[in-house]
Amino acid sequence: MQIYVGPAGVPISCPKKDTISGIKCVYNLGLNLMEIQFVRGVKMREDVAEQIAKISQELGIRLTIHAPYYINLASDDSNIVERSIKEWIYESVKLASLMGAKCVVFHPAAYGEKSPEETYRIVRNNIMRVLDLTSDFENVYLCPETTGKGGQFGSFEEIIKLVEEIDHLRLIPCIDFAHIHARTGGTLKTTDEFTAILDRYYKFISRRPIKIIHIHFSCIEYTEKGERAHLALEARDPAFENLAEALKNFKFDEVQIVSESPILEQDALLMRNILVNMGLMRPIVIEKPIEIVKKVIKKVPRKALKAKRVKLKGKRRRKSKKSARKKKAKEETGSK
Ligand SMILES: [Zn+2]
Repeated sequence: MQIYVGPAGVPISCPKKDTISGIKCVYNLGLNLMEIQFVRGVKMREDVAEQIAKISQELGIRLTIHAPYYINLASDDSNIVERSIKEWIYESVKLASLMGAKCVVFHPAAYGEKSPEETYRIVRNNIMRVLDLTSDFENVYLCPETTGKGGQFGSFEEIIKLVEEIDHLRLIPCIDFAHIHARTGGTLKTTDEFTAILDRYYKFISRRPIKIIHIHFSCIEYTEKGERAHLALEARDPAFENLAEALKNFKFDEVQIVSESPILEQDALLMRNILVNMGLMRPIVIEKPIEIVKKVIKKVPRKALKAKRVKLKGKRRRKSKKSARKKKAKEETGSK
């Protein structure tokens, strides 16, 4: 069982916030996964994605992507549906393929005025459209996520039914345990409840050539409506140890765990330590930390600098002439 653990986005402690620096920071921390956050839009140049592929491969960092929050495959607004499919998910998958990212996670839909059954039908049809549209990118999994609010499509049962019915090799769920916990009013109390979820999932994935699981984990604050805020691991609601303990009962090939805690990498490290102590994961050895330079000092050629100064001087002179003229005009009107 190969386990990958890391933060949802660039580590907080990383001196630079771009994706490449983020991957280097993840490596320096002794983690081996990062989920790239395209949550507010898919903006990345293709050559950057190619650089990311190279560096992540060199450093052995598993990459996954979280697609935009705007995605709603069951919206009443057909424009939103079309953009969700052709723009937000499609572009995420295309970039994932370029950078060698394994999964594209997305929140599938909100119910709105529709019944859960109708929403399910629409989501299912639209996911089949997405799978068709992205058929060139055969190495990227589409991962509809279990969501944390009652008003959103995405209970564990709905998501499992969805992936099982469509039964496509590139479609697996993203299991967000904090969301499941919040949505069900705090049911994940002991190892048994985690085992029950994993058992149901294992029935689905064990028919596949690669038994992979993509997990989101954090603790969570919730009300009767569902999730309110993600919390750090120390809240122990739910407790990560129970998930780790439950994982022991299964023979997954690959386990990806994303820390969605507010203290991202600190909790990813805590999870890693728990998994190592339980013998589920080998310690990660960092050969040589990579230096991350905070500011790139641009060298401007002397000539260009001189030209800039001359230009500035000219501007100032023109400005002073103008203000002198203004001053004169003011004096004249003032004297009248
Ligand atoms: Zn999540």
